[in-house]
Amino acid sequence: MRWLLRGDIASPPDAPGIWGKVFASLRRSRTRHRSRRRQLAQLLARFTETANAVPDGVVVLGAGFALEWWNDKAASMLGLRSPQDQGSRIGNLIRSPEFGAFLRDRRTDPITLPAPANPRLSLEIRLVPYGEQHLLLVRDVTRLQRLETMRRDFVANVSHELRTPLTVVRGLSETLADEGSSLAPEDRDMLMLIQQQTERMSRLVDDLLLLARLETSSGPAESAPVDVPALLQGLRDEAVALSGERGHDIRLEISGDCELLADEGELRSAFSNLVFNAVNYTPAGGTITMRWSCDSQGAQFAVIDTGIGIAPEHIPRVFERFYRVDRGRSGKTGGTGLGLAIVKHILQRYGGRLTIDSRVGQGSTFTCHFPASVCRPLAADRSQRPLS
Ligand code: ADP
Repeated sequence: MRWLLRGDIASPPDAPGIWGKVFASLRRSRTRHRSRRRQLAQLLARFTETANAVPDGVVVLGAGFALEWWNDKAASMLGLRSPQDQGSRIGNLIRSPEFGAFLRDRRTDPITLPAPANPRLSLEIRLVPYGEQHLLLVRDVTRLQRLETMRRDFVANVSHELRTPLTVVRGLSETLADEGSSLAPEDRDMLMLIQQQTERMSRLVDDLLLLARLETSSGPAESAPVDVPALLQGLRDEAVALSGERGHDIRLEISGDCELLADEGELRSAFSNLVFNAVNYTPAGGTITMRWSCDSQGAQFAVIDTGIGIAPEHIPRVFERFYRVDRGRSGKTGGTGLGLAIVKHILQRYGGRLTIDSRVGQGSTFTCHFPASVCRPLAADRSQRPLS
């Protein structure tokens, strides 16, 4: 008994017979137990060392998003104190309404927040569910954000700086064109080329500036009820003019009666890009349908064409800036290659999204989906609108 209580298992008492076997067995089991404990302690130390070597913050959250465990990086980025904060709810420590909503909705897409311990740092926070718990992954994206801002500012500044020389070249070429009769035919051709290309550059600069503006502000410039059917009537007339001799059959279908709470200029930009693309990528005589519909779930604007279509491997990439399925063809349409990137950005501002359904040689359907939160039912007297 004394040997057992002493905890020193090295030298068991000398005992004959069955007692000797009992002591030897007790000694073996104690030795095993000790070595397993040592292994576990080593494993835990190694795990903690590894977790602390991870360059990102890692936090284990239990029920009610209570803090269970975190690594050193998470402690320094989120200002967590050990052991005082153990068991506290993380929502009580990081008191940002945005973060509160992020936890409540159990969002799986990351959010970016200023660091609670140092507001000059930007943190990207991601919530990963596993079992009954959640893992919070925290990454310092300050440098990335700074680079992104620099890139945006650079593009916006260059575009802005290009405006003045472009205006001068345009103005001069117009003046020369006014004196067209005195020019030799080759010079007139060259002048026309100069005018076409400066026109194209101006469109490019305008689109780059619009994208820069969309990227730097998170919401629409102003949100007022927009009479979408009236906007679409105007766009249809412009599309007919753009189609010209190609004689597309351009139809407008309107169902449902609601207005969108949006910035009219932004909506016009998004919708016109889709409609003009449909005209540009549909052979002469094809049909283009502009369809506006809304119900209690939200609103949709679809542009359906019978054009050249897009192969499936290109569809995920057409939103990228300057991505063209067929460079030669896009050059001829005078497109800037920024149209769909602009549409996507504008829709994101309203919580909407763009979907594409397309088959090569058969046509494409581009649909803008708007959530119910930006739709408003039209007054009864205004909803009796003739369809065209
Ligand atoms: P672009 O100015 O070149 O039209 P966009 O960003 O508007 O640039 O479109 C990107 C690319 O997607 C286009 O170059 C074209 O290849 C393809 N695309 C866009 N709309 C259509 C359409 N309705 N039918 C077929 N291809 C399209």
